[in-house]
Amino acid sequence: MPNTASDNLINDDLYRQIILDHYSRPRCNHRLEHPTCSVEGTNPSCGDEIELDLLVKDGVVQDVGFVGEGCSISMAAASMLAEAIKGQPVAKVRQLAQAFKARLLSHDDAQAAQEAQGVDIGELEALDGVRDYPVRIKCALLGCNTLLTALDEAQKD
Ligand code: ZN
Repeated sequence: MPNTASDNLINDDLYRQIILDHYSRPRCNHRLEHPTCSVEGTNPSCGDEIELDLLVKDGVVQDVGFVGEGCSISMAAASMLAEAIKGQPVAKVRQLAQAFKARLLSHDDAQAAQEAQGVDIGELEALDGVRDYPVRIKCALLGCNTLLTALDEAQKD
C-alpha cells in the first residue's frame, strides 16, 4: 500500500482505516448520465481536482457522482460526503455540509460540537484529525465546497 499523507496525519486507527477504505474504494465514483448540474472544484495548494454531478429532483438529492484526482484526504472526504448525502433532502444535505465545514474550521472539540448544532455527520468524523493541519483542511473541504456550489446551481431556476 502506498504511503499516503493520511498515514502520518491521522493517529486514530479506526479513523485512518475509514479514510483509507474510502480512498481505495471511493463510493459514487462515477459521472451521472443526466445530472441536474455538474461543478468542478480545485484545490491548487495541493493539486486536488474534482468534478461533482448532482441529480436533484423534488427537493431531494436523488443521485450523486464524482470523479477526481488528488490526495487521499480530498478523495476520501468526497467519497464519504457523496455516500452521506445520496437520497437525502437538499435542506438536510446543506445542513450536513455546513456542519462538516464548521467542524473542520473550529479550534477544538467543544467548539466543533457547538458549530455542528446536533447534526450527525457520520463517518466524516474520521476527518477530525485534519483540523490540526490547515493546509490539509482545504483538501478535506474540497468536496464539501464543490457540493455547496452545486446545490446553489441546482436550485437556481
Ligand atoms: Zn490534497
